[in-house]
Amino acid sequence: EERTGLLEEKNELIEERNIEIQQKANALELSTRYKSEFLANMSHELRTPLNSILLLSRLMAENEEMNSEHQEYASVIQSSGQGLLSLIDEILDLSKIEAGKMELDKANIAIDEVINGMKGLFNPVAKDKGLQLVIDKTEDSPAFLHTDKMRLEQILKNLLSNAIKFTSKGSIKLNIKKDEKLNAMVFQVADTGVGIAPDKQAMVFEAFQQADGSTRRKYGGTGLGLSISRELAKLLGGYIDLSSKEGEGSVFTLILPIDKQKNIEFIDPWVKP
Ligand code: ADP
Repeated sequence: EERTGLLEEKNELIEERNIEIQQKANALELSTRYKSEFLANMSHELRTPLNSILLLSRLMAENEEMNSEHQEYASVIQSSGQGLLSLIDEILDLSKIEAGKMELDKANIAIDEVINGMKGLFNPVAKDKGLQLVIDKTEDSPAFLHTDKMRLEQILKNLLSNAIKFTSKGSIKLNIKKDEKLNAMVFQVADTGVGIAPDKQAMVFEAFQQADGSTRRKYGGTGLGLSISRELAKLLGGYIDLSSKEGEGSVFTLILPIDKQKNIEFIDPWVKP
């Protein structure tokens, strides 16, 4: 009898603890939801005035009747505004991902179209820095992939703009090929830039993290691009891999499934223990 009494007491305690845990989980979920709703509203409210700043500063920068010094000021306003707009978009993306509300728009997309888009965007930027941009696709890789075009482009843009940003001489390569074993499409972005030290490689995929304290001063940026790209790759059923050597360069590899029913299985090496 004593035993049943003890057992009941124990069960009651467990029950109480379960209720407590459930309440905490509910509160946490609610606050996460408030946070993402707040961020979503905020981003919208910020974007409206920012769009006028962007439009008017562009008109001023292009206005030949203004003196050149003032035109110069206007173009600084313009580019700072652009930076702010990208930051807002990145924060919004991250909060959508966190809240599990990032919606994908998948379709059969032509890889050549994606390649041409990247060429158009990055050839001029690479040329400006005296870098060679080489984009290659192997014969055996599929011409179409079932994925979200905008999100795939977002990841590639992030990888390519980083590659160019952190490279002062040499070349940037985007190789697209098929991995037979994984049944995957592989997009590999290789640069001959500053590289990332082994102990910093996991960190660069964390939000707001940059490889070293001087990065922001030297190169600008927010440290959000790679964490968003990593999450997007996961949502698309794949992942991003990194190998890098300090002083020699980095290779970021985006791996996406060809079979639209199956995600690529992998052990995330960047997840903190
Ligand atoms: P951002 O470029 O805005 O700083 P990212 O999340 O895209 O943010 O990158 C995070 C950090 O990872 C960068 O600040 C940089 O330190 C490092 N990094 C990313 N790509 C490269 C690269 N190709 N070569 C060297 N370092 C890189």
